[in-house]
Amino acid sequence: MTLKFHNTLTGKIDEFVSQTPGKVLLYTCGPTVYNYLHVGNWASYIYWDTLVRILMANNYEVDRVMNITDVGHLTSDADEGEDKLEKGARREGKSAWEIAKFYTDDFIIGMNKLGLITPTHIERATDYIPEQLELIRQLKDKGLTYQIDDGIYFDTSRFPSYANFAHLNLAAQQAGARVECNINKKNPSDFALWKFTLADEKRNMEWETPIDLLDGDEAIVTSEHLQPESDQVSGPLSDPARSRSDVTIAKSPKMGFPGWHLECSAIAMKLLGKTLDIHTGGIDHIPIHHTNEIAQSEGATGAKFSNYWLHNNFLKVDGSKISKSLDNGYTLQDLEKHGFSAIDFRMFVLQGHYRSEGNFTFEGLQSAKNRLSNWRNIAAIRHQIHDTIESDRERNEDDTTVSPYATPQAVIEAVNNDLGTPEALRIIDETFSTIIVTKPNDINGHAFLQLLEVIDELLGLQLIVSTPDISDEVKQIIIERNSARYQKDWAKSDKLRDRLLKQGIVLRDLNSGAIWEYKA
Ligand code: AMP
Ligand code: ZN
Repeated sequence: MTLKFHNTLTGKIDEFVSQTPGKVLLYTCGPTVYNYLHVGNWASYIYWDTLVRILMANNYEVDRVMNITDVGHLTSDADEGEDKLEKGARREGKSAWEIAKFYTDDFIIGMNKLGLITPTHIERATDYIPEQLELIRQLKDKGLTYQIDDGIYFDTSRFPSYANFAHLNLAAQQAGARVECNINKKNPSDFALWKFTLADEKRNMEWETPIDLLDGDEAIVTSEHLQPESDQVSGPLSDPARSRSDVTIAKSPKMGFPGWHLECSAIAMKLLGKTLDIHTGGIDHIPIHHTNEIAQSEGATGAKFSNYWLHNNFLKVDGSKISKSLDNGYTLQDLEKHGFSAIDFRMFVLQGHYRSEGNFTFEGLQSAKNRLSNWRNIAAIRHQIHDTIESDRERNEDDTTVSPYATPQAVIEAVNNDLGTPEALRIIDETFSTIIVTKPNDINGHAFLQLLEVIDELLGLQLIVSTPDISDEVKQIIIERNSARYQKDWAKSDKLRDRLLKQGIVLRDLNSGAIWEYKA
């Protein structure tokens, strides 16, 4: 079985080979925690969860890092506009630290609801300020940075391969540089590594710029950059040793905060090393965020930053881009209000391929929910195979002839092929359609359970835990009802059927006999 992915770096489907056999170093760009995640964001994390699962199914140990962007992501990716966290803080009348905590907690709750495997490390950008500053120091030492009025920038003209990853046309960018683009930048593609808090700006999150990172005269800060002591807001990282009261006016700290791209390079390289096996994110990250991550990381270390880059396409909603103006960025909470679970949504997402544009509609979600409910009823058939699974296991260990369905390998194979979840779902449907017309006792219980286990491991649909067996009491009612039916005692049969319905169980009479299902 070969595992292969579409690699943005090469532009083709590449067989996956990790640097160390049996081990994968994986980095996923995490959310900006200034608001609830919407269905598009969640779709992206479901795809990358599938990536982790298929790596594990191929016996890789996955060391995975995800960041939490809790500072520095500006409203425009071109380093312009307001910090989204500070904006969120104003919107809700809270501090940026409170906003970050609230939405990070909500992200973790959502991950659990969706059954996403917790990464080995989930790291906040604000916990890695020293590492980010150190990276700027390395870049400065290599002559890759310069300073202007509002920050320290990466000089993309000094990193010759800058345009390669996203096939950028830098000349066109130069020619078409927009008026609002910071005119002090040397090149339109240059990006901020560190932004200074401006004189008229009040920020909750800011740190001293180390003097050695500032250019000669710039190390001497003018009083316009000083704010009264009372403006200081402490956060988890506030360090009393860095308090401004300790500093003289002459060498007063120039306060600032990291550019958004920096955190991913700093966190990834600190925890996983100079070269990652796989880096993931949405396609929107290709031309700016990931291009900049590569420039910073490779500029500092000289080593290749990641061997594989995987990008998910975007999910639209009712055919439109998710946008504030359309108010169509549904959250998991919104879906719950409409009667859908996180796992219904997971099924919806897996029906599409991560590299195809998706379209979210409530009708589409309803049909995913129906499919899942159908799958659960089929999973429950395992309780209706009268031979115990143990005795079946002994009898049928090597006997595949009684298994009228696809092997777990076929499902793994489908996902191995560039995360082919739609094909995996198709194979499962085909298999399930034969199971439903097979007498339960003719089903190889062991093989069936194995298949369900693999489906859960790979797709995280929680089929097994969500389909408990019925109680002995209910089983007894079913026996009585079947016997009433056999004796053509329709009145008794109907009465017993109603009793079952009250217990949440419906019977489906098939040619092969009656099977029970959960009431929808
Ligand atoms: P953000 O919180 O904006 O950094 O986004 C978190 C992740 O969601 C990023 O990897 C984005 O690329 C991804 N993303 C944002 N919008 C969508 C969308 N509509 N569909 C799929 N992924 C998205
Ligand atoms: Zn990133």
